[in-house]
Amino acid sequence: MRKTTSEKDSNTLTLDQDRAIRTVMELLSVPGVSCEERRIADKIVEVLRRHGLPKNAVAFDTAHKKSSHGGNVGNLIIKLPGTASGPRRMLMAHMDTVPICRNAKPVKRGNIIRSARKGTGVGADNRSGCGALVAAAMEILDRKLPHPPLTFLFTVQEEIGLIGARHVDKRLIGSPRLAFNWDGGEPDCVEIGATGGVSLDVDIKGFPAHAGGQPEQGVSAAVIAACAIAELEEKGWLGLVMKNGVRGTSNVGMVRGGEATNVVMEHLHVKCECRSYSVRLRRRISEAYRKAFEKAARKLTSSEGKRGRVKIKCTKKYEAFKLPKSSRCVREVIRVLHRLGRKPALQYSNGGLDANWLADRGIQVATLGAGSCNAHTDSEKLLLDQFIVGCKTALGLATKL
Ligand SMILES: [Zn+2]
Repeated sequence: MRKTTSEKDSNTLTLDQDRAIRTVMELLSVPGVSCEERRIADKIVEVLRRHGLPKNAVAFDTAHKKSSHGGNVGNLIIKLPGTASGPRRMLMAHMDTVPICRNAKPVKRGNIIRSARKGTGVGADNRSGCGALVAAAMEILDRKLPHPPLTFLFTVQEEIGLIGARHVDKRLIGSPRLAFNWDGGEPDCVEIGATGGVSLDVDIKGFPAHAGGQPEQGVSAAVIAACAIAELEEKGWLGLVMKNGVRGTSNVGMVRGGEATNVVMEHLHVKCECRSYSVRLRRRISEAYRKAFEKAARKLTSSEGKRGRVKIKCTKKYEAFKLPKSSRCVREVIRVLHRLGRKPALQYSNGGLDANWLADRGIQVATLGAGSCNAHTDSEKLLLDQFIVGCKTALGLATKL
């Protein structure tokens, strides 16, 4: 998209573009896959200290201690006291990258940064988001720009299930009224809602028996699963789920079990998920799964009258949210993007975002892009024109310019 900004408008939201690009290069050069974010967190603090960030502005929470994956650091939280009126605003981005970005070697050619090492992604998801926050903070610190109370939140473990955002220490972030998250590509695409997700773990216990000798004495966990899945499919609870005009999805994603071909399968683990904006539909899908597996387990008996057992565990992965278009958060994003001559496009995401967990805790978050492209692949790149727009948007939202 071409800029249509008048000179006058863009001047109020200028920033040192070369420095922003140098900084994002510096951040891209630091490894930091999920659970190994310590070095990138330290780098962000180091960069901002060079611009006068006071020591007591920096805090870490202990989100990683609540993660089943472990991790070497919690969320990084930087707070600046306000120098202008207005409620606290929070700018956020996740620090971790996906495994394909391990050993990336960022190189800049023209207006694009990509990894020079074959088979690696550059990590623009989400160092572009971190870079936008750091660039905005550097401008504020250097130019002493007036701003309301600000929180910069750099989360950990987003890519492995939004874990940092889920366990963020709310006392440390200081009750922001408005929040903005950078995690995406096009700076004009604003995600103002996302579906909620539930994971469904099904554990099936059958009875083993010799498959050639007395198969009738066994109860096959595989057959229980097959009957249940067939019923879910038949009744419209699998794949795209449309009930009374409400949309949801569900999927049987992983099936693991069995020891040998000559044993009736004793044990099987089936991992499934469902998603929908509607809590009610998510509950109905989960319930349909439970019923289908339990029914299949009851139906199947061995020659001696034995039955298998099914245990199903439903865990909320993240809650859905939808920001009203009239909310202050959305209006602010639109205002700043218009000021930059952009055309904001409001969207809803069908996957979870860090924003889901903050919305769950009563904080409104809009999610924006900062130029990452082809995320999670080895052709990932950072588009610098878009990155700069992301930086300016961050600056505008932080300073109310
Ligand atoms: Zn991301």
